[in-house]
Amino acid sequence: MRNNKSQRKICRKASGGRTVVHIKKKKPEHVLCYVCGAKLNRAKLTGSQIKKLPKTKRRPQRPYPELCSKCMRKKIKETVK
Ligand SMILES: [Zn+2]
Repeated sequence: MRNNKSQRKICRKASGGRTVVHIKKKKPEHVLCYVCGAKLNRAKLTGSQIKKLPKTKRRPQRPYPELCSKCMRKKIKETVK
């Protein structure tokens, strides 16, 4: 069995009391704000699914798309000072 980064292993109980390792695709994870760590309200998609989307649908159309809206406001106020 090859170790694949895009797969995850799940142990399942099968009949007869034996455990079987099932291999499933990894679920995409939440995108986090890198300042406060809040979950960003964004579609959870894998890399290949994101590439199919137009660029405008991959991220919000505002400054600092990698931050949550609260941190973006703070950051803008800091830069103005
Ligand atoms: Zn934040």
